[in-house]
Amino acid sequence: MRNRVRKNLELNNSKKLFIEAQKHLVGGVNSPVRAFKGVGGTPIFMARGKGAYLIDVDGNRYIDLVGSWGPLILGHVSLDVLNHVRRILRKGFTFGAPSALETELAVLVKKAYTSIDKVRFVSSGTEATLSALRLARGATGKKKIIKFEGCYHGHGDSFLVSAGSGAATLGLPDSPGVPEELASLTISLPYNDIKAVEDAFTRFDDIAGVIVEPVVGNMGLVPPKPGFLQGLRDITSKHNAILIFDEVMTGFRIAYGGAQELYGIKADLTTLGKIIGGGLPVGAYGGREDLMSQVAPEGPIYQAGTLSGNPAAMAAGIATLKKLNDDQLYKKLEESAAFVEEGIKRAIQKTGVEAVFQRVGSMATLFFCGHPVENYSQAKDADRKKYSTFFWAMAQRGVYFPPSQFEAAFFSAALSANDLKKIVRSAHESLQVLQEA
Ligand SMILES: *Cc1c(COP(=O)(O)O)cnc(C)c1O
Repeated sequence: MRNRVRKNLELNNSKKLFIEAQKHLVGGVNSPVRAFKGVGGTPIFMARGKGAYLIDVDGNRYIDLVGSWGPLILGHVSLDVLNHVRRILRKGFTFGAPSALETELAVLVKKAYTSIDKVRFVSSGTEATLSALRLARGATGKKKIIKFEGCYHGHGDSFLVSAGSGAATLGLPDSPGVPEELASLTISLPYNDIKAVEDAFTRFDDIAGVIVEPVVGNMGLVPPKPGFLQGLRDITSKHNAILIFDEVMTGFRIAYGGAQELYGIKADLTTLGKIIGGGLPVGAYGGREDLMSQVAPEGPIYQAGTLSGNPAAMAAGIATLKKLNDDQLYKKLEESAAFVEEGIKRAIQKTGVEAVFQRVGSMATLFFCGHPVENYSQAKDADRKKYSTFFWAMAQRGVYFPPSQFEAAFFSAALSANDLKKIVRSAHESLQVLQEA
């Protein structure tokens, strides 16, 4: 069976809306990667989401493999989440005072993460990583931080040094506006290179901590090499530095307990976001009692937020995590993603297009290059023109892939067997388009 191909994907309404948006919003968007600079053309404006699908303002329907960049592991408009949020919203939008919902979500997070004794909720992943870094510095009295090239930890000043995600897509890994004095405190090393980390600890004595995406999603999907995460654990323990696992993307995604469950390693501090908000704005950081107790009001390290832990966001998170606390669900996600992986790998072989498909659980990337990608400099070898052709060929076939080579695709639990077959069929045809080009 051939796919229905929309040769000229009709995007007239998106085009009009984008022209209007650019008059009033910077670049017409509120987060750079949405502007489609990575693939060219007009960003597709969405009208609604339903289960596994997105419907755009021109009425085109797509199988959604972006999932709002990670949060929507249950698909769009999960009824359990919607109903719970609705019930809670009736009682108030925000109190600026404690509510029981915050404790309820904290308990759920702690059940998934045995490394977390106490949690602080914030409103975004960026806020979580900024706060975790402040805590690492405050607790150790040291200043430097190690991060890895191509990893993205939100847009905090200290992290916009060799940053991944949208910064990589736009070729702006080091942002103007970050003072040199501050940037000089960030040591950026190649991912998967434990020797480089050892050397850095030998050279510098004031390293407060190491922050890492335990599985990288923000330079495209790059898994940790065996021993890399354990190596980070050992070195940071030896040097009394804080190990921060940034699980904003991997938390409740690659396993219920994230990378720490999957790889059996405990971080000192963990940052979370995306899925724990179920589609509403939530972030969190948490960790060992002795560290977290240094945060205000228990301790002197200041951090606060007007809408932190607000009832609607907590309710969305609670309903999402309750739904996810189900081994069968992760088994199904693994099977879905594995089915697509096998199909795409077959299509790569048949078409002879130079490409590699990398995956951990329900996160994956198709890199257009001839070798596995282990770090950012290898990710940059990938052919972004080919990626862009592939992206639009998929869109014409009704599959919405990430609009950047440096972003992971996300599978949701809402995908049906037919959706999965359609993804594989579309990928095969899209690779044929590249073969013919
Ligand atoms: C998305 C992301 C962030 C930033 O989260 P925001 O909610 O966009 O601020 C931080 N770290 C990682 C690993 C992410 O994927």
